[in-house]
Amino acid sequence: MTNCQYCSKKIPISKVFCSNECKESFFQKIVISVPKPFIKKLYFFCSSEQREFEIKIFAKRHNWHEKLVKEKIEELYQEYYKCG
Ligand SMILES: [Zn+2]
Repeated sequence: MTNCQYCSKKIPISKVFCSNECKESFFQKIVISVPKPFIKKLYFFCSSEQREFEIKIFAKRHNWHEKLVKEKIEELYQEYYKCG
């Protein structure tokens, strides 16, 4: 058994993703790039409502899935500000 590269669900070793949806999400998310100052702004200078709004605008402007942008931003935030 191995884990889906996107959602971490257990899958047979011959597979990389558990579903096509996970595969697509994984590759779409790779393409998403979020500038560090934007992340800083979202978490340190915005209320949670403002953050939601800013993410929505950002995703729309680049034509990316809002859900994926949100996930990416959370990951980057952890990477930049929570570890080390
Ligand atoms: Zn999956």
